Amino acid sequence: MRVTTTDGRQVDLEQGALDGLRTRIRGQVLLPGDAGYEESRTVWNAMIDRRPAFVVRCLGTADVIAGVRFAREHGILLCIKGGGHNIAGLATADGALMLDLSPMRGVWLDPRERVAHAQGGCLLGDVDRETQVHGLAAVLGFVSATGVAGLTLGGGFGYLTRRWGWTSDNVVGMDVVTADGRLVRASCEENPDLFWGLRGGGGNFGVVTGIDYALFRVGPEVVGGIVAWPASEAPGVLEMYRTLAEAAPPELTLVALLRLAPPAPWLPQEMHGKPIVAVLACHSGRPENGEKAVAPIKAFGKPVGDVLVRRPYTQIQALLDATQPKGRRYYWKSEYLPGIEPALCEKVIAHGATIPSPHSAVILFQIGGALNHRSPEHSAVGNRDARYLFNVTGSWEQPSDDAANVAWVRSAWNDMKSFSTGGAYINFQTADEGPERIVAALGGALERLGKIKAKWDPENVFRTNRNIEPTR
Ligand SMILES: Cc1cc2nc3c(=O)[nH]c(=O)nc-3n(C[C@H](O)[C@H](O)[C@H](O)COP(=O)(O)OP(=O)(O)OC[C@H]3O[C@@H](n4cnc5c(N)ncnc54)[C@H](O)[C@@H]3O)c2cc1C
Repeated sequence: MRVTTTDGRQVDLEQGALDGLRTRIRGQVLLPGDAGYEESRTVWNAMIDRRPAFVVRCLGTADVIAGVRFAREHGILLCIKGGGHNIAGLATADGALMLDLSPMRGVWLDPRERVAHAQGGCLLGDVDRETQVHGLAAVLGFVSATGVAGLTLGGGFGYLTRRWGWTSDNVVGMDVVTADGRLVRASCEENPDLFWGLRGGGGNFGVVTGIDYALFRVGPEVVGGIVAWPASEAPGVLEMYRTLAEAAPPELTLVALLRLAPPAPWLPQEMHGKPIVAVLACHSGRPENGEKAVAPIKAFGKPVGDVLVRRPYTQIQALLDATQPKGRRYYWKSEYLPGIEPALCEKVIAHGATIPSPHSAVILFQIGGALNHRSPEHSAVGNRDARYLFNVTGSWEQPSDDAANVAWVRSAWNDMKSFSTGGAYINFQTADEGPERIVAALGGALERLGKIKAKWDPENVFRTNRNIEPTR
């Protein structure tokens, strides 16, 4: 079998070596043509089409250790798949040994200590489902099929961020298989340098087999959902969004977006495919407070659809899932923002009016709050001045439409990026974003991260990510 080495050469791997690996794996070793190989090798973004030489579907930490040691022994390029949601397709690489953690989706809870232990292949929905049994929640993201590991290693934000910070701010500890195939603990007490780097510095330092999240009392019922108006109302709606967001309590998170109306049952049929402006909201506190907080949104103008209501927290956490299926073509560009200026709203409206695909959107996320209150040195994630984020999300079906959709995203981004804090979210970066964008994402943390890399992965075994070179 042909494999790619860490230095990019193509070499043959003997059948005997692969047979030996099989005896050391409790999960599966999948080759091209095997049932399950396609599912493992493909990722959420169909623009990414890579073929690992083989896949180790890990059933536990021992499989991860065996896989890392095997890759090291034979000098094979290693890639790691969590939820497979990274837009740049960082989970997969041609000719590599892929460690696919998707069978590792166990969640254990200590409700008294308010900590959840999630295995490294968990999706966000796995954690929400188990924590909500106890009326608790971890700080996670907006789409339930996203992997916890990739999200957390890059920072992570969602509806609870304004109360408790980045997802990575709320990690108590991680279990990590290092480049030399050892299992170590990373926490404030054990290997604090590694722990610092893992919280934002990506999967550069090892394979995370488990994450312990601090939990908070949320739900089971919250006020959340979406209200939509015709796009002609966008100037007023975005001004209302801007004003409400600035005054919002930490429990309330508001997202504004422009797109073409999806064929959703909560929108009248005559609106389907027409341009809309919408506000997505979640108030994670007491529902009666939530209802008061979102009343101005519901009362604004003449909405064409309104499903901003009391609902289970797990439901709001999955509300956007249907809009983000695996297998479409995606291209995004985003920037952190210090605030929302009226001039930015004008540009959002202008680019919303030229959307070339029924699945694309221009989105303003409110973040800020608790994440702004920690020291910039707290962990690698940084960007403590970010209060909002814009994301221009291109999403379409046919390869023949690639050029038009990518051009639309890039033109909107180019026109709006002067509003940026100068920082960019590492987890939203596409495959064509180069080293200067890693600097935009990690800025001042890079020097320290290079030293942590030199200590924990001096030979750069974990390189198929937003890579940080070891610096000595
Ligand atoms: C539809 C959608 C919605 C999103 N919503 C949000 C959101 O609300 N908030 C937010 O912050 N982000 C969001 N993201 C971005 C998301 O955080 C990143 O795409 C993230 O990389 C996804 O993690 P994953 O495990 O699914 O990805 P993968 O593609 O599996 O992995 C991403 C990177 O992490 C590495 N990795 C994965 N698992 C491990 C592991 N166990 N150990 C070590 N390295 C590992 C991979 O090697 C790769 O480099 C969203 C993405 C999508 C596609």
